[in-house]
Amino acid sequence: MYDYLIVGTGLFGSIFAYEASKKGYKCLVLERRSHIGGNCYTENIENINVHKYGAHIFRTSDESIWKYMQQFCKFNHFINSPIANFKGEIYNLPFNMNTFSKLWNIFSPEEAEDIISKQSKEIQGEPKNLEEHAIKIVGRDVYEKFIKGYTEKQWGRACKDLPASIMRRIPVRYIYDNNYFNDPYQGIPLGGYTAIFDKMLKGCEVLLNVDFLKHRQEFQSKAKKIIFTGAIDSYFDYKYGALEYRSLRFEHKILDIGNYQGVAVVNYTDRETPYTRTIEHKHFEFGTQEKTIVSEEYPLEWSKDIEPYYPINDIKNQALYEKYLDLAKKKKNVYFGGRLGEYRYYDMQDSVKSALEFSKKELRGSL
Ligand code: FAD
Repeated sequence: MYDYLIVGTGLFGSIFAYEASKKGYKCLVLERRSHIGGNCYTENIENINVHKYGAHIFRTSDESIWKYMQQFCKFNHFINSPIANFKGEIYNLPFNMNTFSKLWNIFSPEEAEDIISKQSKEIQGEPKNLEEHAIKIVGRDVYEKFIKGYTEKQWGRACKDLPASIMRRIPVRYIYDNNYFNDPYQGIPLGGYTAIFDKMLKGCEVLLNVDFLKHRQEFQSKAKKIIFTGAIDSYFDYKYGALEYRSLRFEHKILDIGNYQGVAVVNYTDRETPYTRTIEHKHFEFGTQEKTIVSEEYPLEWSKDIEPYYPINDIKNQALYEKYLDLAKKKKNVYFGGRLGEYRYYDMQDSVKSALEFSKKELRGSL
C-alpha cells in the first residue's frame, strides 16, 4: 500500500512527491504523457535543450522559491528580451523606450508619455472590452501594432469581443530596458528542466503513459491518499460541463544553420502570420552548436481530446470552477493542485509556491 498516489509529474506533483518521500512516505506517481516534467519538459535534440511545450523562463521575486529550486539545478544568467516582428518591422519588447523611439522616432521619455497620454484619451470612461482597455493604457499605435493581431490570434476572437479581464497586466516602461520581467531572480536551468524532475522524483515509483482516469479502479485502491494535478473537471467526469481553455500546437524544426533569429523568442504581432511566436532554443543557453532548432507556436481552440494550456478565468468559467471546488472539498483523501487542479493561470513560481504550501500543510507533524 502506498501512502500517496500522485497524478501528474509537473511541478506541483513532483514537488509534493519530493517532499513526501523526503519524509519517508511511499509514493506512486502516474503520468499520462511519455515523459516527466509536465509543460516544463525539455528534450535534448542535436545537443540543444528543446522546450517542447513552449518557452519556459524561470523567474521569481521570492528569494525562498529561488533558493528552493537551487537544490535541483543551477540557473544561468538568461534574461528574457523578446522582440516583436510586425510585418517584417522589428521592435523591442516589453513596451519600453527602445520600442517607442523606433515607433515614433523620438528620444525622451517625456515625448513617449505625451504621445501615449494623448492617444489614450480616445477612450473615455470605463473600457467596455479588451480593445478599449488596451488603448486606454498604451494608446492606439502600440495597440494596433503589437496587441491587436497577436491577441486575436491567441484567443481566436476580435479584441472588441474579448473582455478586458483576460489581458494580464500590460508592462510599459519609460526607460531603455528590454528585460521582460521585473523579478530580481531569473534564468534557465543549466542542462534543461527535465533533470530537475529526475531529481525530484528519484525516491518514488513513476509510471509513464498511464492515464489515471482510464485506470481509476486499479490505482485508487493502491494508496491512502490521492494528489490529483490533472484537470479538476475531468476528475468529476465533467459532471457540470467542461471548463474552457486555450490550447497550442507546436511545430519543431531542425535547421542546418547556426543562428536563425538571433534571440530566443520572437512575437509575431500581425494578424496574418499564423503562429504567435517562434522560439530558437539554443539562445536560452547561449548555445554555439552547428545546427539550430526553431519552434513555431500556433494557438488552437481547445476540445476535450487535446492538451489544455491556458485556463480562461472569466466569470462564467470561474463560477463553474467553484462548483467543482465544492465537490472537491467533499472528497475525503483526494486533493487537487497545480495549474489544472486549481484552474489557475500559474507561472512556474506559482506552482512551486502552491505545492510547497500544500506539502507543508499536508505533511505537517507527520512521521
Ligand atoms: P503541469 O505542468 O500541467 O503538470 C500536470 C501534469 O499532469 C501533466 O504532466 C499532465 O500530463 C498530467 N496529467 C493530467 N491529467 C492526468 C491524468 N488523468 N493521468 C495522469 N497524468 C495526468 N511559467 C513560467 O514561470 N515561465 C514561463 O516562461 C512559462 N511559459 C509557459 C509557456 C507555455 C506555452 C505554457 C503552456 C506555460 C508556461 N508557463 C510558464 C507555465 C508553466 O508551464 C506552469 O506553471 C507549470 O508547468 C505548472 O505545473 P503544474 O504541475 O501545475 O502543471
